[in-house]
Amino acid sequence: MRTLDLAESLRPDLVALRRELHRFPEVGMHLPLTQQAVVNALADLDLEVTLGRDLSSVVAVLRGRGGDPEGERPVVLLRGDMDALPVTEDLPLEYASKHDGVMHACGHDLHVAGLVGAARILHELRDELEGDVVLMFQPGEEGPGGAKPMIDEGLLDIAGRRVDAAYALHVYSSEHPRGTWFGRPGPLMAAADEVYVRIVGAGGHGSQPFRAKDPIPVACEVVVALQTLVTRQFDVFDPVVITVGKFVGGTKDNIIPDDAVFEATVRSLSPESRSEVSRRIEQLATGIAAAHGLTAEVTHLPGYPVTVNDEAEYAFAKDTIVDLFGEDRYTHQRDPEMGSEDFSFVGELVPSAYVNLSACPAEDFASAPDNHSPRADFDDSVVPDGAALLAELALRRSAQLRAGMRP
Ligand SMILES: [Zn+2]
Repeated sequence: MRTLDLAESLRPDLVALRRELHRFPEVGMHLPLTQQAVVNALADLDLEVTLGRDLSSVVAVLRGRGGDPEGERPVVLLRGDMDALPVTEDLPLEYASKHDGVMHACGHDLHVAGLVGAARILHELRDELEGDVVLMFQPGEEGPGGAKPMIDEGLLDIAGRRVDAAYALHVYSSEHPRGTWFGRPGPLMAAADEVYVRIVGAGGHGSQPFRAKDPIPVACEVVVALQTLVTRQFDVFDPVVITVGKFVGGTKDNIIPDDAVFEATVRSLSPESRSEVSRRIEQLATGIAAAHGLTAEVTHLPGYPVTVNDEAEYAFAKDTIVDLFGEDRYTHQRDPEMGSEDFSFVGELVPSAYVNLSACPAEDFASAPDNHSPRADFDDSVVPDGAALLAELALRRSAQLRAGMRP
């Protein structure tokens, strides 16, 4: 396969780029060094490059020259996220992070190198490429989210026509043998929303609670009832997770405070359960508070939506993986994960597929440190595979779409 051969020839450059990025990781929406590294890595290619206005994204359009020059050309989007995490690296790497307290602990450095590789392969094969490709280098995946502002800045129409299909991949530092691809059609990752609850009572002396309105037992009751809500009001086959990770109330044992507050992360796997759970949390908190003569203020902070793999796009991506790398390199992922991913904002608007690739360097993949750990280690020998897959998806899907567009 041409893409595999080209990816192999790019191996030293892609590995060097990944290690350079690993040395200088950046967190959040503003990644000037990373942005510059991407721009430099693409500088000698014939691309239309647009830098982000409010964030340091890079969007590059590659125009294919293959097929019939007449008629509409399809547009395929390939995405690589670029940001690191506020983690202090604890790995004895020759290319370890030089930025204190910052680490590419989720492997996004491999994503950037892989997407640069895909760009170079597609550029080389652009006489065969029957559509245009949008290369999406995205900051802020780990928060507060770069995909949405990139869409707001025109990402999906940047090639002059709407993107027809979108693909992304993610590397893992554990769980599967190195080089294994995995994923599933349908829901892949959860929606992750935050909810803030304030139980408002009236403070007083701890010895005379009947003269006050104690918010603490009421807030405790709401926290416990949330778990009953999860199991009694939601289908176990469309699961919801509510975790109260912060609970604050009062200052001293003999003082009843005016209020008590808690914060929860709320995870769901369908748009229906997502909107239902926020409605029911509000109902529960206000209802329990009212039952005790207190009030509740509930604030929802929407996060990333559910990441859903389009059935047809996923089947196409999976078939391409099996064709390129063989059946034994692919594993069906039984369950979705309750983590989240802001590629979901692209997936809400464009049929898309998101696949995972193990980059675990250890033989004992089951007990290797997971992504986000200070010891998460990613083997960059898989980077050319990622580049080849992304390029192959763009080539094949463009040709398919083009054929479909002809009368
Ligand atoms: Zn990640």
